[in-house]
Amino acid sequence: MKKWDTTGIENWGWKKQPLGATIPTAGNAVDNKTGGWRTERPVQDAEKCTNCLLCWINCPDSSVRVKDEKWDGFDYEHCKGCGICAKVCNVGAITMINERGEE
Ligand code: SF4
Ligand code: SF4
Repeated sequence: MKKWDTTGIENWGWKKQPLGATIPTAGNAVDNKTGGWRTERPVQDAEKCTNCLLCWINCPDSSVRVKDEKWDGFDYEHCKGCGICAKVCNVGAITMINERGEE
């Protein structure tokens, strides 16, 4: 099976993703920087954040980083931009923004 070449995927944008691409093996989420599928990205306002970690618990992609029991950033190499973190944040500290200004 042809291997999916993800070189430079962090700069691809969603339009360059191959249609119907598959990742044929399990347990390789760290190796495949699937954040390139994203059309929107979450951004966080540290002033509003209360470190409740609801975003961390609810992220289906384990793309919210935690350090010393506090919010420590998004893993944009794997975040798919689903927006769940923004929905569950009770204080409105997360906003979804367009990934690259593409329509
Ligand atoms: S859900 Fe909102 S307030 Fe809670 S840790 Fe995440 S960004 Fe901070
Ligand atoms: S947008 Fe979705 S995948 Fe990305 S950090 Fe938020 S919940 Fe996780």
